[in-house]
Amino acid sequence: MQEVKRPKKPLIFYYVVVLIILLLFNFWIMPWVAQQRVLEVDYGTFVEMAENKELGQVQVAEQDNAIIFTNKENTVIYQTGMMPDPDLTQRLIDSGAVFAGQIIEEASPIVTFLLSWVLPIVAFIALGQWMTRRLMKNAGGPNSMMFGKSNAKVYVQSSDGIRFSDVAGEDEAKESLSEVVDYLHNPSKYKEIGASMPKGILLVGPPGTGKTMLAKAVAGEANVPFFSMSGSEFVEMFVGLGASKVRDLFKQAKEKAPCIVFIDEIDAIGQKRDGRVGGNDEREQTLNQLLTEMDGFEENTGVMILAATNRPESLDPALTRPGRFDRRVPVELPDLKGREEILKVHAKKIKYDDSVDFSKIARMASGASGAELANIINEAALRAVRDGRRCVTEADLEESIEVVIAGYQKKNAILTDEEKRIVAYHEIGHALVAAKQNHSAPVQKITIVPRTSGALGYTMQVDEGNHYLMSQTELENKIATLTGGRAAEELVFHSASTGASNDIEQATKLARAMITQYGMSEQFDMVALETVSNQYLGGDASLACSTETQTEIDRQVMALVKRQHEKANRILEENRKKLDELAQYLYEKETITGEEFMKILDDAS
Ligand code: ADP
Repeated sequence: MQEVKRPKKPLIFYYVVVLIILLLFNFWIMPWVAQQRVLEVDYGTFVEMAENKELGQVQVAEQDNAIIFTNKENTVIYQTGMMPDPDLTQRLIDSGAVFAGQIIEEASPIVTFLLSWVLPIVAFIALGQWMTRRLMKNAGGPNSMMFGKSNAKVYVQSSDGIRFSDVAGEDEAKESLSEVVDYLHNPSKYKEIGASMPKGILLVGPPGTGKTMLAKAVAGEANVPFFSMSGSEFVEMFVGLGASKVRDLFKQAKEKAPCIVFIDEIDAIGQKRDGRVGGNDEREQTLNQLLTEMDGFEENTGVMILAATNRPESLDPALTRPGRFDRRVPVELPDLKGREEILKVHAKKIKYDDSVDFSKIARMASGASGAELANIINEAALRAVRDGRRCVTEADLEESIEVVIAGYQKKNAILTDEEKRIVAYHEIGHALVAAKQNHSAPVQKITIVPRTSGALGYTMQVDEGNHYLMSQTELENKIATLTGGRAAEELVFHSASTGASNDIEQATKLARAMITQYGMSEQFDMVALETVSNQYLGGDASLACSTETQTEIDRQVMALVKRQHEKANRILEENRKKLDELAQYLYEKETITGEEFMKILDDAS
């Protein structure tokens, strides 16, 4: 699809203006200034010029205590101070100078008035005009008189438009949207039977899952124009401008019907109106206008509104009621199959080795969004270029996943021997506890190469298939695995280090969620003690219980983590020999694979 751009003022216009100003300055103002220049000289020079008969005109300005005179050709004006010189008059007569009334012409009062009053006022008015015009331009679009016009990007169809086939995975969303495409192709089929299409469709999901892509794909498949605008673009400095932009957008859309209007980040204007003091009037007016417009056009006009948000819970109920955005299409993070498909779609753009196993990469990148997967492919391609290779290998892809998870390798970080040994034991501690427990994900890779994120090493565990549910045992094992690093340090070095801070944070978060959200404590049973807000944006939780309960929650979280820590200690004590052997191996090799790890673990045990 191609974006249609509005014409701008050509650059040459500004060059011409600057040129005219320069010419005026050079041919008019500069000569005038030069003419007004007066050379200050000493009295000796004056006397010498008088004696050499080089004077032209002379004026004795007694009130200024100065003598003003010119050379013979009257091209230069000189000035000198008056001296008590009784021979002055005679000297001047002898020199043959002409006595002049006034050599330096005083500017006429009109010119003075113009310069000191009219010019500044004109300059200020011009500046004011220019600034208002710029403000209007920013508010209303590229043309200076476009106050309150929508500056929606309009896309027209071209051969390289996005299709459903470009959006990998997300089959449910595509299925739901293909009905819209069918309707736009053939509205009469729906009219005949009296069925009406939803006016608005809300695409809901975490960032980077392909919501914008899906909206474009609908337009691409239906072969209709596509208007795209972000919610924040409606909100303006002046109250009422946003509303007028909404009006304009819908006017344009109706002219171009059938078409698709896409509003990205609709939460910027569609937030709940809760009557807060100091609320945003402009935003509310814009929202009201949007609601009115959506009510205003009859069904089956052929204008389909798609909107995207990752904060559906913050939207105003009036916006999501039937008749407005009445269909909600969830666009979730891709599952294993979806991830593999997305990787393959993006891999079409790069050259890669035949041996690349995309299903393995997809398994490693669990939890990644479509945008992150696209980024992983690109990082891998960049790495191949950096190393001077002609195609991307599996190692490139694995490394780029690690870059996304933990940052780049730190080339110049030098660990002391002791530190390196501690990190090796720490990581093997995690891996060993994970491996010795049932129901925990297999270890894929262990490394003790420091990363730019600050991690000194990490253990990558990769689940075999899709994982939708986690049992209590799995969660407990996960906490035990997280505490395994510290447990190994304590066992071997009899002391703790700061390396476990991230593990501690994660273990506590998990333990807290088990008790407050998943109902996994006997005492609280199935009572929700925390509410999660912004589930698509990290899912911050806030406690919703009394202070006594909070104290009890803290106590239970501590007990839970402690139990798992003790379990990890036990596992490591029982496998002390393997722990030493594996840590030594990792210390020497710095990076080992899951297979190497399992081989040593299973050897003669
Ligand atoms: P959102 O609007 O949900 O934040 P976008 O649609 O802007 O996300 O997606 C950003 C980028 O991520 C796209 O340009 C595309 O490269 C990639 N992407 C996301 N989801 C998919 C998908 N399902 N298939 C292919 N590419 C995807």
